[in-house]
Amino acid sequence: MQRMGTKCVQAGYTPKNGEPRQIPIVQSTTYKYDSSDDMAKLFDLEAEGYFYSRIQNPTSDSVAAKICALEGGTAAMLTGSGMSAVFLALFNIVSCGDHILSCATIYGGSFNLMSVTMKRMGVECTFISPDSTEEEIRAAIRPNTKLVYGETIANPALCVLDIEKWARVAHEAGVPLIIDNTFATPINCRPFEWGADIVIHSTTKYMDGHASVLGGAIVDSGKFDWNKYADKYPGLTTPDESYHGVIYTEHFGIEGAFINKAICQLMRDFGCTPSPMNSFLLNLGLESLHVRVKRHCENALAVAQFLETHEKVSWVNYASLPGNKYYELAQKYLPNGSCGVVSFGVKGGREAASRFMAELRVASIATHVADAHTCVLHPAGSTHRQMTDEELVAAGVGADMVRFSVGLEDVNDIIEDLAQALDKC
Ligand SMILES: *Cc1c(COP(=O)(O)O)cnc(C)c1O
Repeated sequence: MQRMGTKCVQAGYTPKNGEPRQIPIVQSTTYKYDSSDDMAKLFDLEAEGYFYSRIQNPTSDSVAAKICALEGGTAAMLTGSGMSAVFLALFNIVSCGDHILSCATIYGGSFNLMSVTMKRMGVECTFISPDSTEEEIRAAIRPNTKLVYGETIANPALCVLDIEKWARVAHEAGVPLIIDNTFATPINCRPFEWGADIVIHSTTKYMDGHASVLGGAIVDSGKFDWNKYADKYPGLTTPDESYHGVIYTEHFGIEGAFINKAICQLMRDFGCTPSPMNSFLLNLGLESLHVRVKRHCENALAVAQFLETHEKVSWVNYASLPGNKYYELAQKYLPNGSCGVVSFGVKGGREAASRFMAELRVASIATHVADAHTCVLHPAGSTHRQMTDEELVAAGVGADMVRFSVGLEDVNDIIEDLAQALDKC
């Protein structure tokens, strides 16, 4: 089997004799057929092919196949954003009256989706600490729980999840573990190797890596046996009347049922499709993912080590730094590096943090993370500014906290910039 670097460059698309080396951008909504019969076979899932780009497009499919190879999955799809990947992955197997068990430290958008929007659909969600013991996780699973959810490295809390433990308890209860692997990327961690069943990504972050295109991906490990728990997952194991009575597990096998249901049914109905042009741009990012992620991690570790010794810095949170609460888990799951995001506290609280940020010249103030440009955010002064200092502490976002996404610039320039800004605050 080929190594990760080769898969980043080549997987998903193999041109035949005389065909374009780079993935063609199929910028077409529709596809032409010679007869209605040819078309009917596609609708009946008797033949493979494209008929409408809301459902599937060859450019996007090639890129999905690359991400599938990187994660070691059996089937994958792209979506128009990370949030639509999260939503489709969840809604593919939960309905009104069902329950989701999630880690509490997940991305704010995913937290809102589950706690507010999906609640309106009659789906209940409970949130527990990523550090919960097996007993605590087990106790939180209910008869109507349909999935367990967490992030390899939480954004922005930067906790590392003990994936093996969470997978073990989920499987005991007969439900899949869905992992958001956005911050780690498959370069640093492949959750399927630790028992996760479905992986999702916001490709907007390191996979694109240039702050250019929003996107998401869902990948199936093909290992969760939906048929064994057929009563719990009727959407996958009984006829879909809205799609010519197809039974997804029968037609696509357990390795293809999840993704094909999400494409045939949910993509058809929600239409959160990526544009072929954006899929093409995402692929350019993926071609250098292995090179970039390595550099992001080297730069971030150097930044974390510098901050740790600085007198104006009260604390540093980076899982690959010895002494971090998650250092041992990071060594197990992320031995080659964790991610490029570091958080830290500036002595002097809210005001000192604002003064420090205003002095930065290389790092720019932006809500984004995980791209080539170093960027910085002071949550208490921006995304969380309506909260009091007490509320901020309860949310795990202290008034002094700075989130620093280390980019691909020369690390000496990044550190010099930090040093001069800290001197002035
Ligand atoms: C950004 C992000 C998302 C949402 O992705 P979008 O592409 O912004 O919709 C989901 N999960 C994590 C961990 C993220 O960082």
